[in-house]
Amino acid sequence: MKTIQVRDKMFRVSIPETEIKQRVAELGAQISEELKGEKPIFIAILNGSFIFAADLIRCFEHECEVEFIKFSSYEGTDTTGDVKQLIGLNKDLTGRTIVIVEDIVDTGLTMKAMLEMMKEKNPKNIKIATLLMKPEKLQVALNIDYCGFRIPNDFILGYGLDYDGEARNLKEIYTLVK
Ligand code: 5GP
Repeated sequence: MKTIQVRDKMFRVSIPETEIKQRVAELGAQISEELKGEKPIFIAILNGSFIFAADLIRCFEHECEVEFIKFSSYEGTDTTGDVKQLIGLNKDLTGRTIVIVEDIVDTGLTMKAMLEMMKEKNPKNIKIATLLMKPEKLQVALNIDYCGFRIPNDFILGYGLDYDGEARNLKEIYTLVK
């Protein structure tokens, strides 16, 4: 298996490009079937999901809209710790079907925060699409509608995911070699 170095660490291919393409096409077909007639709004969480979102929406066969949002985390000085803020969503979601597009669900805390914020905007329904999830790490109950791959609890990069800002452009997904 191909290995590469990114900054100070070694990574090896864990999901080849062909497998990613095939799985994304399957998810796109499934979403197309289930949400036809809904004109969903895909909401991609930046930065990591930008490549997955671009590929997924091109596999969606009906009318749709696309929005991008970003979370900024602030180290709180009080006991609440991290405070997450949403940047960049001005769209009216009232009565709309939305599909949240994420690169990876790890602890699930980001997705939980996202869901709570989206619910306040009174959409008709909310679907979650994530390319990857680490079931062993999940800390909250989440109903993931569309999941590409369930992976072990290892650090990964590529296909949009970075290590310290690098390697988002890799076509495959790589796992840290310990
Ligand atoms: P959560 O809130 O579910 O713990 O974390 C979600 C976010 O953590 C993802 O959107 C992603 O940015 C980051 N993340 C979690 N696991 C990994 C990983 O293995 N590699 C990279 N590059 N980012 C990860």
